[in-house]
Amino acid sequence: MSLENIHIVYLVAAICFILALKGLTSPKTARKGNALGAAGMLLAIGVTFASPKFHNQIYIVVAMAIGVVVGVPAARLVKMTAMPQMVAIFNGVGGGAAALVSLMEFILRPSPHGFAIYQLVEILIGVIVGCVSFSGSAIAFAKLQELMTGRPITYPGQQVLNGIIALGALGAAAAVIASPTTPVLAIVGGLALLFGIAFVLPIGGADVPVLISLLNSFTGLAVAASGFALNSVVLVVAGTLVGASGTLLTLMMSKAMGRSLPNILFSAFGSVVTATGSDASGEARPVRSSTPEDLAIMLAYARKVVIVPGYGLAVAQAQHTARELAEVLQEKGVEVFYAIHPVAGRMPGHMNVLLAEANVPYEELKEMDEANPEFATTDVALVVGANDVVNPAAHDSPGSPIYGMPILHVDDAQSVIFLKRSMRPGFAGIENELLYNPKTTLLFGDAKDSLTKLVAAVKAA
Ligand code: NDP
Repeated sequence: MSLENIHIVYLVAAICFILALKGLTSPKTARKGNALGAAGMLLAIGVTFASPKFHNQIYIVVAMAIGVVVGVPAARLVKMTAMPQMVAIFNGVGGGAAALVSLMEFILRPSPHGFAIYQLVEILIGVIVGCVSFSGSAIAFAKLQELMTGRPITYPGQQVLNGIIALGALGAAAAVIASPTTPVLAIVGGLALLFGIAFVLPIGGADVPVLISLLNSFTGLAVAASGFALNSVVLVVAGTLVGASGTLLTLMMSKAMGRSLPNILFSAFGSVVTATGSDASGEARPVRSSTPEDLAIMLAYARKVVIVPGYGLAVAQAQHTARELAEVLQEKGVEVFYAIHPVAGRMPGHMNVLLAEANVPYEELKEMDEANPEFATTDVALVVGANDVVNPAAHDSPGSPIYGMPILHVDDAQSVIFLKRSMRPGFAGIENELLYNPKTTLLFGDAKDSLTKLVAAVKAA
């Protein structure tokens, strides 16, 4: 195929990527968007094979086959709750691959002195950003997979040491520009790997998924840089799209958590877990709990019920049973919808994906801004495995780590039911006063079991 035609196909692939991102902005069109993105990628890969400049086919096919054998079962078998670490590891290998491409582009030139300065800068960006993304994602994976502590790891002089490593990498990069040699470029890569580890260690808890989104945007940048080094328009476009969308997602996640990005990256948030269920004197505080039968009566005779899903719904895989309960209530004439907080669960869109999987109609999902005014006229807010996203400390307690985070105002509802297993806190590790509110009733147990019992009891009510 001629190079002109190949570029036309690359352009079509790039358009597919842009339309894919557009499709992914709504649960209704997300599947189509995903399929379009995959089709664009298939097109880009297929036409690359038809390029007259394409060599080493066997190696590439073998590498792709290994990728398919490892990637397909991993993606199919992963549990929804393990999705963030899956994204971390896939993202890390993407960054590592981009760094290797830039490195090989440098090594395979007959004379490294033939590079113009801008080409060396492109290669250096690819190597540095790709290596940071690779090692940073590996640590983020280890934290989320609980291969190491998920809490922030801090030590005295940490920021200074991180600064020294970063300056060392930049100094070595300047040396590569002054006199391009492979060993010095390898030192740049080594220091960038070290910086990736040092940068991620103090970030922990609920901030890790935000970090993964940021590292994802770094990978996009590294891919775009290697696209410049290889003169590949499609890599530049795809890398820029990943970089830009990753940056936007990172900012949106920080906003939804009511925190600034520097605060997330540098404040070691979540290092302390507050004890729960006891007051300052250590006395256990009373909470009201009830039986599925009593709560079923409350639900069945309500006019409006709002289901608030959270991370616990994902852990219990209770999405199908939640839909079943909503349907049973709707059959009894109760108005039911689901209130979705932007950071409920452990990744953006987590609840939308779970509920879509359970065939909950999109019209029944209301985003936070749309749902909040409805709580004042709600009889029962049924909180299924959510905690931080409904914690009034976010607007009542200036000292609280989640202070300023927009929350779902379930405390405006007439009654609140919490389905959870214990008095343990949510991911931010802080007490939730709403659990002790006189309008709150708890039903202890796994969310799926509790919902199953509620479905049976509502049917019988
Ligand atoms: P939380 O982590 O605050 O609370 C989850 C609750 O679910 C806990 O109280 C837990 O209590 C309960 N739970 C866990 N397993 C079960 C189960 N099997 N059955 C019943 N209950 C269960 O979740 P939220 O969704 O409210 O908040 C998400 C948190 O994650 C926020 O802090 C957010 O900032 C953070 N985060 C989210 C991101 C996103 O993109 N979605 C990204 C980054 C951070 P118990 O153990 O007692 O059962």
